[in-house]
Amino acid sequence: MGSQEVSTVDWQGKHVTVAGLGVSGIPAARALHERGAVVTVVNDGEDERARAQAAELEALGITVRLGDGATLPPSTELVVTAPGWQPDKPLFLAAAEAGVDIWGDVELAWRLRGTNGRKAAPWLAVTGTNGKTTTVRMLASILEAAGLRTAAVGNIGVSLLDAVLGEQEYDVLAVELSSYQLHWAPSLRAHSAAVLNLAPDHLDWHGSMEAYAADKGRVYEGNTVACVYNAADPATEDLVREADVEEGCRAIGFTLGTPGPSQLGVVDGILVDRAFVANRQKQAQELAEVSDVNPPAPHNIANALAAAALARAFGVEPAAVRDGLRNFRPDAHRIEHVADIGDVAYVDDSKATNTHATEASLAAYDSIVWIAGGLAKGATFDELVTGAAKRLRGVVLMGADRALIREALTRHAPEVPVVDLDRTDTGAMSEAVEHAARLARPGDTVLLAPACASMDMFTNYNKRGEAFADAVRARAETSA
Ligand code: ADP
Repeated sequence: MGSQEVSTVDWQGKHVTVAGLGVSGIPAARALHERGAVVTVVNDGEDERARAQAAELEALGITVRLGDGATLPPSTELVVTAPGWQPDKPLFLAAAEAGVDIWGDVELAWRLRGTNGRKAAPWLAVTGTNGKTTTVRMLASILEAAGLRTAAVGNIGVSLLDAVLGEQEYDVLAVELSSYQLHWAPSLRAHSAAVLNLAPDHLDWHGSMEAYAADKGRVYEGNTVACVYNAADPATEDLVREADVEEGCRAIGFTLGTPGPSQLGVVDGILVDRAFVANRQKQAQELAEVSDVNPPAPHNIANALAAAALARAFGVEPAAVRDGLRNFRPDAHRIEHVADIGDVAYVDDSKATNTHATEASLAAYDSIVWIAGGLAKGATFDELVTGAAKRLRGVVLMGADRALIREALTRHAPEVPVVDLDRTDTGAMSEAVEHAARLARPGDTVLLAPACASMDMFTNYNKRGEAFADAVRARAETSA
């Protein structure tokens, strides 16, 4: 079977165990039940919410076992799992022992695409440690500007299964994939795919950097037109080299410098394409201006180039790349400009929850008062602080693991003033903004880029970003 063809599975009477109630488990259980499978859902928790969800599924005739996600039902022929479930769970070990396949939500969506009488749209896939959501949204914006019916889906709010089995027909999907999802998606074959970058993250789940990289690399398996890699991150190019792709599929690099043949890059403030042109030795096609990228920070230009590469691989014209980038608005809390107060800019990058993301946003400004701290998830901060030391006007630290950042600052930037907040109540962010405003000089940027997760002080990174923006706006009003 060709890699893009729709697969046919006879679900009638097939015993499927769905691991995990929740955003992916419930639609999976329903879709399989509708196709005649005998579905059992197993779930670790048995709280009130789980009981209510279970009751709904049971009313349809689906078996649900709450409080027991560890045991494999004896007749299981296939396990469909929520992507976050750790691969060393007893349920999976039992499945492997019994020779039972394990599919994640992405694998299931891939296998069910085109089975509801609608066209099976090709997938343009994006993975990487940071920048996935931004790139996928840029890509969808470009595809839309080209007049294609598309959606940004995957690890992004819209479930792939809903997109694949919904009423709407698509020409192409812009798909964000996490390393967890790729781990459980053995037969996925994207039209083209990009790995944006690779930095240590989620190693507790994958077990090692090698295993994490290998799961990310699966996104290239079976690509038909282009494997897009980051020329500044050789690990991504290695993954392309290791991938088994369709005949004629090309490796396409993106770079913030001048592009070589088969690359996209930047020349004199213009995004140019030397990959999808008639003569790549001699020809360079202008796509857009750097100022069309929003915001035009270096890492975001890289995201735009990756999105452009995937769109060009799909045959999109240069003008649509430009229009799509111009139409694109970043999601909240991703290098979001909140306000200027006096001559100081306040920027919310609460989504920078790891050091790799924070490194990128610190690189985007010349003189910074940096607000950081939270849950470090095992990270170290020496490299981050060393790289940014010269551009730091001052630092305000908060959250559970702030001492780790403070120690790195003492080692590598001892002259930079640091304010250490040891309060964790809701007013802490206002105080942080006040200290930051005091440290800032005209022309500086006050940047919330915590390099840490937020859950020690906030419900999530959204709430942390909102607390920052509220404090900044309150300050802007009083100083107006
Ligand atoms: P993801 O979906 O991979 O988490 P997002 O697009 O939501 O990525 O961006 C998350 C954070 O990562 C942003 O707030 C920004 O600080 C940082 N970031 C975005 N793109 C890149 C990139 N290409 N390289 C490094 N960091 C990035």
